[in-house]
Order: sequence, then structure tokens, then C-alpha cells
Amino acid sequence: MRSADIRFWLLATCLPALTALRLGVLWHPSPAPTELPADLEFLTAAPEPRRLARTLGSDDSIYQSLKRQPLSEAQVAELIGAIKPVFNLRSDSRPLDRYNLVLDPAGEVQRFEYLSQLEPERPLVVERQAGRLVGRREVLPLEKRTEAIEVRIVDNMSNAIEAAGEGQELTDQIADEIFGSVIDFTQDLRRGDRLGIVCEKFYQQGRFIRYGKVLLARYQGEKVSQLGVYYRDGDGHHHYYDAQGNSLNRRFINYPLPFRGINSRFNTARFHPILKKPRPHLGTDYAAGQGTMVWATASGRVVHAGWGGGYGNMVEIDHGKGYHSRYAHLSRVSVREGQRVDQKTPLGRVGATGLATGPHLHYELIRKGRHLNPESVNRDIQGEPLPRSYLADFANRRDQLLSQLAGSTQLAVHTGSLSAAVVAE
Ligand SMILES: [Zn+2]
Repeated sequence: MRSADIRFWLLATCLPALTALRLGVLWHPSPAPTELPADLEFLTAAPEPRRLARTLGSDDSIYQSLKRQPLSEAQVAELIGAIKPVFNLRSDSRPLDRYNLVLDPAGEVQRFEYLSQLEPERPLVVERQAGRLVGRREVLPLEKRTEAIEVRIVDNMSNAIEAAGEGQELTDQIADEIFGSVIDFTQDLRRGDRLGIVCEKFYQQGRFIRYGKVLLARYQGEKVSQLGVYYRDGDGHHHYYDAQGNSLNRRFINYPLPFRGINSRFNTARFHPILKKPRPHLGTDYAAGQGTMVWATASGRVVHAGWGGGYGNMVEIDHGKGYHSRYAHLSRVSVREGQRVDQKTPLGRVGATGLATGPHLHYELIRKGRHLNPESVNRDIQGEPLPRSYLADFANRRDQLLSQLAGSTQLAVHTGSLSAAVVAE
């Protein structure tokens, strides 16, 4: 059975129980009636409140939906008035959002509960208190799960992650945060490469809400293989480390913009989201949409910010030790000369100013007048290695996460056999 099937089966089994449990907390059902002798029941049986469960239609609004319920216009207005201070009726609601309405026997609104898909962890609750309807947002606890995911590269990483049914937030974490300096995802990927991920995912009532941290990422490729393990030491430092406990930080990150901003949509067969240019061209051109954020590849000081002739709007940074980087053809510049920047500080936006036929980012990394490849600069590890006293604990953590990955991939027969021992560095 494939892991996806198993996951589905588990969900199908656990969900009803879980949902029932959670619904009890969220929807506050009326307490079970206390048992009374049958002949006394008619004396005490109060009329039950009326409970309506509704779902917004595809081009519905909360207001329109409420108007179709058995409520007077004054009641709808009162309810809307209580919602407004805590909930934006236009931007916080979505088609197919669900709500419950509780009316007392006289038909007066007692309670309104609204579960928005945008923020399911913060349901809107309106309750009658001392005769007045008062609205508030509740905060529901999220359930954190750790899951292992195995993806196979066909054309590029973000497509592979999407094909595995996962979200692009994972691509951001892996390409920009974890391996941003040690793997060039625009050039080093090959068809059939494997990427294993162990990450935290947050659920509410069995429904996926958002990702937490990626705890481990393992890239096993034809050209590059790399392990990244998240570790927080006893002194509160937390970083991604390789298998030996060396930091994955380097002086430069590989690309001058978020990986997902690099436009590779039209290069599915090969891995060249980079524009080809005739020889005398110095630097790298990244195809990217107009307005895509551009960031500093390393910390330093801005030595040029503004018009630069054929470069158009250009930012140049002095990184010390003779290293400079340039970012050209920008539509907007958001730093000033003299300003200090960190790695990934936004510098401006992609454009087509100067000698450019269309929006793209021209990037140069220079040392003493010579143009460099970031890979040649990034051989030295930056940042502190893990202190020796934490190495044993780190190794335990690493192996525990690797076995979690191995466990999941054993189920996923179609991805081939993998084991924790196969960790090429
Ligand atoms: Zn160029």
C-alpha cells in the first residue's frame, strides 16, 4: 500500500471520532437531558432552542445568507453589528465557509458561530450577553504532527513538491532557508533525483492548516547530495546542519531573489531558468516577473543605489575582502547608499530599466574585477559549528529523523528502496 493510501485510510478511520470530539468543544451542543420519571417530563420539558447549520454559497455573503434565515431585518442588523468589530465581512469570509445559528424558542438569536476557511483556528463567535449580542474571535488549539514526505524530481523542485500534494511553503524553506547556499536548484537538479522531507504540519479538526518547521531535508541527486538537519542546542541556538554538525550557512546564498521568483515555467525539460546570452556577457541573468523581490546574497554595505547607465536602476554592495555584488535593471530600488544590509535584505524589485529587452535580473558577483561563481566562494563554512558537547545529542536527533524518513519511504514502494544508511554528503 502506498503511503498516501495509508494516510487516507488512517484519516478515514480517525476523522469521524476526532471530529465528533472537536465539534463538542467548538459547537457547544446542548447537554444531554437529565433523566426524569416519564410522567414528570411534560412539566419540565422546555421548548428546545433552534439550531441551524448553514454553508455559504459560491457567490454568497454572510449578510445575504443571513437574510434567507428566519430572522427579522432588525435581528440581521443586530447580528451584523456584533460581527463587524471583530471580523471583516468582506475580506475574512469565503464561499463554502460554514456557520451555526442558535435561536431561542421565541426566534431570537442567542448565538452565531462562524468557521472561516481563511483562519479556521480563529472561529468567530457571537453570543447574547445581558441582552446584547457581543462578538469575539476564539483561538482553537492546533494539533502538531510530524510527517515524512518523499518526492522525486522530474523537472524542477517546486513542481515535484506540488505533485506530492504539498504546498510551496516547503519549497521556500528548502530552497531559500536550508539549502540556499549549498545547492543551486536552478542548475544542479537532475531528473530522478530524490528529496526526502520530515516536517511539522499543523492540523485542526483533522484539516491541514499550515506548515511548521522542516526538521530534516535530504537531497540525493546525480550531481549533488546534501543533508540538512534542524537542531536547537541547549543554549538556544538553532540552525540547519549537515550530517556532521557543520552549519549550512555560507558567505553568499546562491540566488539574488527567492527561488520561487525565478521563472522556470517554460523550461520543463531541462533546468535552465537562466537566460542564455552571447559570450562577452558577464554575470547571470535570472528570468523573473516584473516586481519580483530582489535580495542581498550576503551582508555588506550599499555603495551604489540608483541609475547606472546600461544597468538601469542598479544596487551594488561591498561585502568586504574585495567582494562586490550587483543587481541590475531594477524597477524599484529600496535601499540607500551607505546603508548596511544583511543576507536576504530586500534591495528592490525586478524590472527592465537600462539596456534590457524584458524584465529580468542581471546579477554579478565580483572580486577585484573578476566575475565569480557563488559556488567557488561558498566552499568555506560560515557560522559556528555545533559545540562538541551537543554532537552526541545532535547525532541521535539526526538518526531519529532519518529513520522516520526511512519508515515512510519503505511504505512508498514506488519510490524505490531507501535506507538511513544512504546519506551521501
Ligand atoms: Zn545581464
